[in-house]
Amino acid sequence: MLDRFIRSPRWWRTEIPTQIVLSKDGIGDLFGLLKKEKKRPFFILDSALSGQKKFEPILERGEDGKSLFLFDATASEPRTGDVDALVKTIREREGDEPDVFVGVGGGGTMDLAKAVGICLKNPKSAADYQGWGFDMVRGADVWVVPTLNGTGAELTPIAVLRGPQKKLGINTPLVAPRTAIIDPQLSEGVKKFNRFYTMMDCYFHHYEITLSKTSAKDAILDAEDGLKLSRRVLSRDLSEYGLETAIQSAQGSILGGSSTIGGRVGASHAISYGLSNAGPTLPHSVAVTISMLGLADLYRGGGYDETLRFLEINRFPVPRAKDYGIDASQVEKMVKTALGMDKLWLSHFGEGWEKSVTEDFLRDVYTKIVA
Ligand SMILES: [Zn+2]
Repeated sequence: MLDRFIRSPRWWRTEIPTQIVLSKDGIGDLFGLLKKEKKRPFFILDSALSGQKKFEPILERGEDGKSLFLFDATASEPRTGDVDALVKTIREREGDEPDVFVGVGGGGTMDLAKAVGICLKNPKSAADYQGWGFDMVRGADVWVVPTLNGTGAELTPIAVLRGPQKKLGINTPLVAPRTAIIDPQLSEGVKKFNRFYTMMDCYFHHYEITLSKTSAKDAILDAEDGLKLSRRVLSRDLSEYGLETAIQSAQGSILGGSSTIGGRVGASHAISYGLSNAGPTLPHSVAVTISMLGLADLYRGGGYDETLRFLEINRFPVPRAKDYGIDASQVEKMVKTALGMDKLWLSHFGEGWEKSVTEDFLRDVYTKIVA
């Protein structure tokens, strides 16, 4: 099965700048490539992986005290402060700087590597680059090795960061990784909750892009294929790791990345950003799930019903905003955040979205969500 996977012809249509290496020995191939290209790597490894034998070669390299940062990805997205601190340490090593940042982990870990790579070569603090359209130069090389499938972060030109003001990505094509090494076996140690919810987010991305009125044609076609794959995965019980599921998840994740390049998500993501700002401990994928279920009027007969079905198959309770400390006192703030997501509303409703997405509409959605 793995041999067939690593020989798969390209299954995405969107042109992507990242070199994709399909592998059945991800860490071995990573070190092979580093050696071949004579690179001086700096590893950013999800600290949860440090107990797994597969990742030992990275820990051994880190014993020199200057080639490894262990990132605790459980708390939240990487913070702009994490990026600034790493950039500062590395800049102080004049003449001995690494020339490639290798992010090994889930979406947060890969995004941290992406952010450090670009910020190293640009003068300001990471928080100053959260958003779009800044004048930036190309950063250091970034390679990624995903150990969780479904984030799409292995390809996306976005590094999502939590800053002092807001959770927002550094959005520039310069942030896309140069190389992504894809080995579906590396996700073996992932917990069921993460395996399930990460694929839920992958499903939401594909689903919303297929409905989008502003996405490029290739992005929509990629999203249609990704939707099929994520449905297949989520219709199974994900309690145990399974190779076939992992391969399909990895393929769906690549399509999640490629469809994001020319595509745009829609309403449930727009609602989720209000929730994420109100509840710092709420994982993104759970926020979108809550949002999808809060938009029954838009999604009944489609994503709403499917979301309930996937939760049931995997015996997860319907997630509630109040379990993450979000309550009615935050509704107005969430309304304001969601109103600012004009590109996503335009994607869902098309021109004239303002007629549908009024303050009253949003207030109603959030009031139901926090009830
Ligand atoms: Zn998402």
